[in-house]
Amino acid sequence: MAVRDGFIWLDGELVPWQEAKVHVLTHTLHYGMGVFEGVRAYETAKGPAIFRLQDHTDRFFNSAHILNMKLPYTKEQINEAHLSAIRENNLPHAYLRPMAFYGSEGMGLRAHNLKVHVMVAAWEWPSYMSPEALELGIKVRTSSYTRHHVNITMCKAKANGNYMNSMLALNEALSGGADEALLLDNEGYVAEGSGENVFLVRDGIIYTPELTSCLDGITRKTIMQLAEERGYPVREKRITRDELYIADEAFFTGTAAEVMPIRELDGRIIGAGKRGPVTEQLQAVYFDLVRGKLDDDYGDWLTYVS
Ligand code: PMP
Repeated sequence: MAVRDGFIWLDGELVPWQEAKVHVLTHTLHYGMGVFEGVRAYETAKGPAIFRLQDHTDRFFNSAHILNMKLPYTKEQINEAHLSAIRENNLPHAYLRPMAFYGSEGMGLRAHNLKVHVMVAAWEWPSYMSPEALELGIKVRTSSYTRHHVNITMCKAKANGNYMNSMLALNEALSGGADEALLLDNEGYVAEGSGENVFLVRDGIIYTPELTSCLDGITRKTIMQLAEERGYPVREKRITRDELYIADEAFFTGTAAEVMPIRELDGRIIGAGKRGPVTEQLQAVYFDLVRGKLDDDYGDWLTYVS
């Protein structure tokens, strides 16, 4: 990743990609106290467009607020940083990674007098899973790692350190031959994937866990709205893993994973064992939407780069 051409927006300037470096005593590298976002820009007929940029930037600022980290830029400056990262790297579509982190001005948990640095990088990252998975679905394993508890870490913050839990879970799932992990909360109810929210469909009703111990996903919100507008009731409730086993359909949502069907959980086939009709419909609407084909109805959600 580090050895490539282009530019990264770092502390208000576009820095050559290979020079966008930090010191080994960077505070966030040691303790994981930082916040980030995962944002996507899609290719459209009018050039690249960032999907729900303002919502991502709002969550970025909320995450920082939760960690009591003062971001030294305005939301407008951060939005503009995203646009310039795409423009200056000439990207037709992109994954964007804004992050705020403490510098190397000091060590120790008090984190006094540390500078908050902000970066935004953009690069082409076409598909999180294989393209076939969007149609066939993925294999998922319930994780032996419990999702964060609301009073242990801050689940509403997209915080760097929170992702140690995600990485442990994902790598456990991968090493067991699955494609993704399903994490349960500390009471044993379904929370989310390592980097995705989860949904199930049963008898025409769509269910997703309450937000208690999962991230307030922007794709989750999008899919809930799209589903309701297409006549599907959507209910947020506690879900058990065996409700997923007997669901008609299940899928993950996330900026990276998009709308990803789940074909199998813990060795049990879900529904027909492939993308179900409701998932297929919502996935198709989602892809049309992010590619600028539904701008008459959802144009506000796209920020065109030029
Ligand atoms: N949960 C977790 C833990 C995540 O990391 C992500 C990805 N940001 C999501 C859910 C999905 O959120 P979004 O749709 O905003 O990408």
